[in-house]
Amino acid sequence: MLVLRRGEDGPAVAEVRSTLTALGLLPSTNGSGDHETLFDEAVEHAVRAFQQQRGLITDGVVGPATYRALRDATYRLGARPLAYLVSAPVSGDDVQTLQERLLELGYDAGRPNGVFGAQTEAALRNFQRDYGLNVDGICGPETLRALRQLSPRARGGSPVLLREQERVRRAGPRLRGKRIVIDPGHGGADTGVTVGDVREADLVWDLARRLEGRMVATGMQALLSRGRDQCPSEPDRANFANEVGADLFLSLHSDANSSPLAQGVASFHFGTEGGSTSTIGETLAGFVQRELAVRTGLRDCHAHRKTWDTLRLTRCPAVRIEIGYLTNHDDRRRLSDPAFRDVVAEGILVAVKRLYLLGENDQPTGTFTFADVLRHELAKAE
Ligand SMILES: [Zn+2]
Repeated sequence: MLVLRRGEDGPAVAEVRSTLTALGLLPSTNGSGDHETLFDEAVEHAVRAFQQQRGLITDGVVGPATYRALRDATYRLGARPLAYLVSAPVSGDDVQTLQERLLELGYDAGRPNGVFGAQTEAALRNFQRDYGLNVDGICGPETLRALRQLSPRARGGSPVLLREQERVRRAGPRLRGKRIVIDPGHGGADTGVTVGDVREADLVWDLARRLEGRMVATGMQALLSRGRDQCPSEPDRANFANEVGADLFLSLHSDANSSPLAQGVASFHFGTEGGSTSTIGETLAGFVQRELAVRTGLRDCHAHRKTWDTLRLTRCPAVRIEIGYLTNHDDRRRLSDPAFRDVVAEGILVAVKRLYLLGENDQPTGTFTFADVLRHELAKAE
């Protein structure tokens, strides 16, 4: 292998020059002619800059290591299919980008070193399996598309959470046929938060029925996790959702606090302190939170990640909503009004609709009505 240094002239230098130009390190000579094959002072300067960027010995000379690094730098992910070639492993910046992406998504591709080795292949195969792609260990167009579609919020996400995201994307924007488990909290002997004759279990039961009616009207299958006088355990409620193959799980509660001043609505989705989160759960919790805060006038207590059983054990995206504090006079008065519960039910329905539209409908929060949702469903059905 040739070693190129200042003063050299020839086609090998021309190749180095064009690579450095493509990398933005050397101004283009733009066909001015004379020096396109010459290793001049400007080229040496650019080579040094490149070597510095790449952590190579900064000597301004193009030896084997620098030459290989220059060639690697010309590959962008997607420009060529990538696979594990045992006898001659592929290397390049595209491989490094792939490795970094896999690592971001929680697959152990090893150190991102730009060389497509056995560990990169194993990580890629795991990703393909989790994502429902053809498991061939080759990073081709289909795999590339999948890698690019995943939201950066899936960072550190587990395969299970990625699958969840993909299912919603594939499910399409229509509500018809979606199966939702509505989980009214407490029930039976467990009345939940009880203040005077206002009982959380009864309120969320009534709310669940109102939501169920609207969902059924839009063609969804709505199932309740309990009967009026039953109180299944939290794991049983999650198992029920799993057994019926629910698309979403919505748990309805109201809160209590020792301070009568505490008030507002909050939503919860699965997520850990370590940063692993259900992207869909987080998205839905965000929609629910915004719709309810705008429509109901309840104070916005935001969306939060939790590892509660119903969020953790459900295989579908799950959101728990704590609607108002029954220990707060204003919240209790509002929730006791059936018309207010209609507003809450409508807000939750619209939030679910927004989830399946995945940002395709940018109608402002709080303005989408039940009638709009029905109209949208009917238009889609034609
Ligand atoms: Zn509760």
